[in-house]
Amino acid sequence: MTGKTHIIGGILACQAVDTFVFGNDGGFVYYAAGVAGALLPDICHTHSKIGRRFPVISKMVATIFGHRTFTHSLLFLVIINATLLFFFPDNEALRRGVLIGMASHYVLDALTVRGIRFLYPADIRVRFARIRTGGGFESIMLALFVVAIGWIYVVHV
Ligand SMILES: [Zn+2]
Repeated sequence: MTGKTHIIGGILACQAVDTFVFGNDGGFVYYAAGVAGALLPDICHTHSKIGRRFPVISKMVATIFGHRTFTHSLLFLVIINATLLFFFPDNEALRRGVLIGMASHYVLDALTVRGIRFLYPADIRVRFARIRTGGGFESIMLALFVVAIGWIYVVHV
């Protein structure tokens, strides 16, 4: 999926969890962390939004692990969770946002033709659909996400 879809998808996932699970208690940090988390896995793509911002790290990750492997895995999610717990033990909003953003990224990429290696280093491809990244169907999904965000906002705030 494209960076734009990941950003909007991450916001929608954060909003949905915040609204239906935590009763609208997320603030700016939570949503900003959600967007960051939604972009983070694509650090393995040097041409992604986050890859262009951190070219050296991105190149290293892409060279060592390849595309959509380690950074799209449960292992990476666990490592990021542990890292955030270690450095920001009291910042629940930050951690929650990043993890939900990352999870939304995994789900969206698992809908594409290429799928993800969720159980990396195990060589198992996880894929729920065969949507083409940047294709017409992705544009429709993106539009639906925006509608869903508006709907949840209007009905539940
Ligand atoms: Zn990705």
